[in-house]
Amino acid sequence: MTLPWTQSWENKGRDDERQYPDDVASLPAGCEVDARTVRRPIDDEVDFVVVGSGAAGATAAHTLATAGYSVAIVEEGPWVRTREFQRDFYPAMKQLWRAMGTHVAGGRSLIPYMQGRCVGGTTVINSAIAWRAPSAVFEDWSTRWGLGPEITERALDEHFTWLERELSVRSVDDKALGGNSAVFALGAAKLGIESHVIQRYDAGCDGSASCSNGCRTAKKQGMNITLVPRALRAGAKIYHSAQVRIVEVRGGRAVAILAEMNGPGGPHTLRVRARKGVIMAASTVQSPNILRRSGLRNAHIGQHFQAHPGVSVAARFKFDVRMDYGATQGFNSLELLKTHGIKLESLMLPPELAIARLPGLGPELMDRFADYSRIAISAVVIKSEAEGVVSERFGAENVRFSLTQKDMRNTLEGLELTTKILFEAGAEEVYPGAHGMPSILRSADDAKKWREGPTDTRAYNMVMTHLFGATRMAKDPRAGVVDTRFQTHECEGLYVVDSGVFPTNLGVNPQHTIMAMARLAASRLC
Ligand SMILES: Cc1cc2nc3c(=O)[nH]c(=O)nc-3n(C[C@H](O)[C@H](O)[C@H](O)COP(=O)(O)OP(=O)(O)OC[C@H]3O[C@@H](n4cnc5c(N)ncnc54)[C@H](O)[C@@H]3O)c2cc1C
Ligand code: SF4
Repeated sequence: MTLPWTQSWENKGRDDERQYPDDVASLPAGCEVDARTVRRPIDDEVDFVVVGSGAAGATAAHTLATAGYSVAIVEEGPWVRTREFQRDFYPAMKQLWRAMGTHVAGGRSLIPYMQGRCVGGTTVINSAIAWRAPSAVFEDWSTRWGLGPEITERALDEHFTWLERELSVRSVDDKALGGNSAVFALGAAKLGIESHVIQRYDAGCDGSASCSNGCRTAKKQGMNITLVPRALRAGAKIYHSAQVRIVEVRGGRAVAILAEMNGPGGPHTLRVRARKGVIMAASTVQSPNILRRSGLRNAHIGQHFQAHPGVSVAARFKFDVRMDYGATQGFNSLELLKTHGIKLESLMLPPELAIARLPGLGPELMDRFADYSRIAISAVVIKSEAEGVVSERFGAENVRFSLTQKDMRNTLEGLELTTKILFEAGAEEVYPGAHGMPSILRSADDAKKWREGPTDTRAYNMVMTHLFGATRMAKDPRAGVVDTRFQTHECEGLYVVDSGVFPTNLGVNPQHTIMAMARLAASRLC
């Protein structure tokens, strides 16, 4: 049986005639310095230096540049252009992913955490899902965490609205939904549970199912083709492939950043003086380490790290699903969010990763892999209560994080419901991929087996892509690192605007809330 959504697909390639927003010819002359080509130290001065060009950094830089300030963005990763994005996953990981996706959080088990390292940061490799954080999260921040009245849903509303308009937030189009999301939708509808199509930063997704490689047709509205180029056109400049080592602090005030450039004859130093402020947006893993290296000593730096660990379930259908076509993620369910902190979602994995989710070895594994076109994958995303720690060890980043028993019991609820969704949609086999569970479930009734499933995280292959909290916000310096103006309690003119400032995780994908918070922070500096 062939389903209708698999028939008309054409995986569009790049349009070589088209001018992309990240083409050098689209940008003002002299706005970009590629530190790999620099042969001597550089000393520069601007109003604001922004460290990092991902969701938070690009948004802050754009807001300040369009308000008329001189802005320099300093980004550790290279600027990989739309024309250079790869169709295959491994070369893309090499180009765009921090350490090729090999960083792991240690603890009870090893959990990889994934980040982008390039101009545009993680927005270049993410699935472009745009969610406003639920009202309950803002109420919690306002009341239990005491951030009101400065940080409220109301204060963020205009920023969410602006982002939704400017970055084309829209529901995945029927034509680009793809079979993987369609089976999720079908199964959820048959079970009668809450589910709906996902909203994304999407200017006409072609359904190439390869958001993690960078969007080769510039349909995904990542920061690399939106707010970074727009900030540059408004007068900002960018130093990329330059790693910020420290913020220079004099008399309790941030005065400059020092970065390392590995050009010919290097390393050379990039020093950018900041007349008005240094804005940290290097992510919740890298920002706290830069603060510590810069001499800040607030006890909460690097503490309270939170995440949304995720685990996936694969299934084989009787018919073609064609996971290689469609928006990378297209359908989700919040049925278990309020009760168990669990979000369920369809998730396309490329063949290189999908094979790791199939059972068996040797010929048995190869037989199953040959059925890639009939495989579907869904993910369980956990709003965990666990807190971890970010630090540096022998000069390298070090994250410690272990899920709690309550987190694991919630995970099992999510896995049971996902399994039911897949069987309702017509799966003939579901592959739990967890040590201690049967390697194959054959009927909806088997979903109950998750009730006795393992609660030891070592039994699972989890990953973390949403990271929070390691420079958390609190009005009292004894409770957090930054105040409600996003300024560090210890150092004037030093701000943190990435998701490190979130006092809790969200339960939904964070990019939208990160950008709204960064825009709020920057607009209050204008
Ligand atoms: C595979 C994947 C899929 C995801 N899908 C979604 C999704 O669909 N929707 C969603 O809402 N979220 C998604 N996320 C999460 C989301 O992309 C991130 O939460 C968000 O981009 C974080 O924003 P940020 O600005 O804090 O960090 P980033 O976007 O990671 O940007 C930080 C930047 O700082 C740079 N940097 C770090 N250290 C230094 C330094 N020392 N000097 C200079 N620069 C430095 C980094 O190279 C990077 O470019 C996904 C994440 C992953 C990994
Ligand atoms: S699936 Fe992702 S990469 Fe492919 S066209 Fe759509 S937005 Fe671009």
